[in-house]
Amino acid sequence: MKIALVTGGSRGIGRAISVRLAEMGFFVLINYHTNHQEASVTLQQVREKGGDGELIQFDVTSQDEIEKALGKWLAAHEGAYIQVLVNNAGIRKDALVMWMKNDEWHDVLNTNLHSFLYVTRFLLKDMIINKMGRIINVVSLSGLKGLPGQANYSAAKAGVIGATKALAQEIAKKKVTVNAVAPGFIQTDMTKDLDEAQLKTMIPMGRFGSPEEVAAVVGFLASDEASYITGAVINVNGGLYT
Ligand code: NAP
Repeated sequence: MKIALVTGGSRGIGRAISVRLAEMGFFVLINYHTNHQEASVTLQQVREKGGDGELIQFDVTSQDEIEKALGKWLAAHEGAYIQVLVNNAGIRKDALVMWMKNDEWHDVLNTNLHSFLYVTRFLLKDMIINKMGRIINVVSLSGLKGLPGQANYSAAKAGVIGATKALAQEIAKKKVTVNAVAPGFIQTDMTKDLDEAQLKTMIPMGRFGSPEEVAAVVGFLASDEASYITGAVINVNGGLYT
């Protein structure tokens, strides 16, 4: 059984990634934070595609919760190891730096950046022992370009991009690849409050992307065909920034 873990799989991009990986034959561990109902919808969609999976609840900011939940699952499934990890869970709390509260900074860094260390480090050993692994980090245009009002989010995503490149070199010889996918504006709950009509005038393709368009790239990076790609950041942004 090929097993993949998708953090933040209950909604948006994480849901589309879970469905895509299920279509590719992975048993998908669908992580969520609080939204059990939406996570169940993801699992239902995974099953509708003929795949299977399981919900796994933990807060990606809590090393303790991560290690307990994943440790328990692995202990109950002897011999199983998670060969694909998609670090997708994320939040944004926009504010201009002048007005940014410490909490807004720390919450965004904890969820988008520190989670990378906690989840990845826990699963890395098994990937290295098995000499097969795919780590795919969902970053953002904001982490490449910097977006005003998002210093916290840009810093967190830029941090994950740096970590992606560093870890890729640390473990390249072990046949574990580490890549990042950088979406632009994608239609999900995260972008619901944005002025889509105004923003899409800046996008060469003239529209927001769909979660499935991001999931297709993640699926490719998780596949055997992507075996010689590591340390890469792939933009999925309608031409907004290349
Ligand atoms: P979304 O629709 O708001 O979904 C966020 C997901 O993250 C949910 O599944 C949520 O779980 C989970 N999550 C949030 N905090 C968590 C925590 N502490 N522990 C575990 N899970 C947590 O967001 P999205 O648009 O799909 O974004 C997915 C990723 O793409 C994020 O990393 C985001 O930064 C990135 N991204 C998005 C866009 C865009 O335009 N949408 C652009 C660039 C990058 P619950 O349902 O349980 O709350």
